[in-house]
Amino acid sequence: MLKEELLRYSRHIMLPEIDIEGQEKINNMSLAFIGMGGLGCSASLYSTLSGFGKIKIIDFDFVEASNLQRQILFDENDLSKNKATTSVKKLSQLNPFVELTGLEEKIDSENIKYLLKDSEIILDCSDNFETRKIVNRYCVKHSKILISGSSIAWKGQLGCFDLRDAKNSCYECLFEDLENEDLSCRESAIASPLVGAIGSLMAIEVIKATIEKNFESYFMIFDSLKGVFKKVDIHKNPECRICRI
Ligand SMILES: [Zn+2]
Repeated sequence: MLKEELLRYSRHIMLPEIDIEGQEKINNMSLAFIGMGGLGCSASLYSTLSGFGKIKIIDFDFVEASNLQRQILFDENDLSKNKATTSVKKLSQLNPFVELTGLEEKIDSENIKYLLKDSEIILDCSDNFETRKIVNRYCVKHSKILISGSSIAWKGQLGCFDLRDAKNSCYECLFEDLENEDLSCRESAIASPLVGAIGSLMAIEVIKATIEKNFESYFMIFDSLKGVFKKVDIHKNPECRICRI
């Protein structure tokens, strides 16, 4: 690690759980962020500052005025610009040691295998079940760690799925009937700081997964209006059509 990096990451290195060895793991890890809405902005911001070596950002969408209430990487000058390339420009100002790539692509079941091939941990920050299903199926098939966030109104959810181990639950073990759900966060009411909170929790989990400290599969629901966090143990559904062995 360069002297400059040692100084930059010194507050991480001082944490005994991270130390130099952990920071080096972070510096060598490759992440992919799917979706640069409120969750993606917050999670990618902290991940860039944390020094993850390679960060890929995938989003086909453009910045709209109604995004500016919560998507902290964008401002008035970014309206109508692509979110992936714009966020990469902003993030690269924050940490020159991170290799950032922005892809103006809409993930589908075909292109996902090329888009995520060289990323070890996948952060799903998308706003719809269709994308979440595609991402989950890819992570099951390729035994990758999936960290998934969502938020709507005052409530947020965080899911960690360690799919390197086939004994662990996948996203669809929890949400079997996704076809019947029609809740998209895209058009929904949403409390601005909630996406920051859930995005930050995703950024914490990706550090824990990388340094291999206390990372486990779990699901958490946060009701920000009531101020209540509820951790839910998750179990593999033996009937799950996606991850059934
Ligand atoms: Zn499953």
